[in-house]
Amino acid sequence: MHRALIAPVSTPMGSLLPPAGIFLAKKSKGTYAMVATVIDGKAFAATVRGKVAVHVARLKADHGITPGLAVVLVGEDPASQVYVRSKGKMTLEVGMKSVEHKLDIETPEADLLALIDQLNNDPEIHGILVQLPLPKHLNEDLVINSISPAKDVDGFHISNVGLLGTGQKSMVPCTPLGCLMMLRDHHGSISGMNAVVIGRSNIVGKPMAQLLLNDSCTVTIAHSRTKDLQEVVRRADIVIAAVGRPEMVPGDWIKEGATVIDVGINRIEKSEGGTRLVGDVDYESCAAVAGAITPVPGGVGPMTIACLLANTVTACSRANGLVEPEGLTA
Ligand code: NDP
Repeated sequence: MHRALIAPVSTPMGSLLPPAGIFLAKKSKGTYAMVATVIDGKAFAATVRGKVAVHVARLKADHGITPGLAVVLVGEDPASQVYVRSKGKMTLEVGMKSVEHKLDIETPEADLLALIDQLNNDPEIHGILVQLPLPKHLNEDLVINSISPAKDVDGFHISNVGLLGTGQKSMVPCTPLGCLMMLRDHHGSISGMNAVVIGRSNIVGKPMAQLLLNDSCTVTIAHSRTKDLQEVVRRADIVIAAVGRPEMVPGDWIKEGATVIDVGINRIEKSEGGTRLVGDVDYESCAAVAGAITPVPGGVGPMTIACLLANTVTACSRANGLVEPEGLTA
């Protein structure tokens, strides 16, 4: 990614975000001077989806295979419904088969497991995603571990966790994979860099740390019990914030020139009424110090679905003993 001395800028979409590779030197009263390159996850995700579409077209043309993704939603959680809809739409857009199973919130565990078993054995389905969280009467670990590891496009199955942990070929969780792709794209190599991951969840923090380690970063995982988090973060060349606390990381924790990847998605109330989305880092103050930063929205978020599609095409290629798509895996 390159920097250009252009300020101020507006994006082709008319959004408030400057496009990747451009930094702002503007400073007005009460605001910070933005020096960081903005890593444009929305644009990068479109590139990833484009690569997936090319590979899907090749699978169809050369082998008569259409990758298929099945998404299972139990209950009617509004946020989950939105995610599932947009996953389905994007799956079709890249030329894959999309199947949605919407189950009643009271669905017995045995019925859900029977559906997963059916999908595990369906040769037209290469990826299975069970939308989380599940209703409380369902055992999430049991359900996830009933998905065939080869079709586990979320990368949460214990076999995939173990394979990733031992540096072997696995299905990699989508959000950390998206973060890794952006880091590799921005830096080329991240080998030897000091990376701090704030958050140790199974879906983001831990697999993220593992991926960074596999790419030869020196990795620290911080969490709610970490002492002197500010000092820990200040040592980092790469900061991954996956906490779920709005704007928790201020700019004065960030080392000058560090790359900040903000995984957080938090909805907060605006002083003038209404709500807006913010990340786990204070964007303005961090962008005044960092070398590069992902915005919220438009950073990690779009990469997550793009990586789900990437994982599905990878799973399909592996299942058929074919060459994996380049640049779409860890
Ligand atoms: P979890 O709640 O599972 O984990 C949060 C982690 O943050 C925990 O490890 C917790 O520590 C740690 N933490 C909490 N408070 C502090 C603190 N004060 N200082 C340091 N660490 C702290 O969250 P997720 O990993 O599921 O998600 C994190 C964020 O990422 C959320 O905002 C979520 O919405 C977002 N997200 C975004 C995605 C995307 O596509 N962009 C996808 C998935 C998540 P401890 O373990 O000690 O409790």
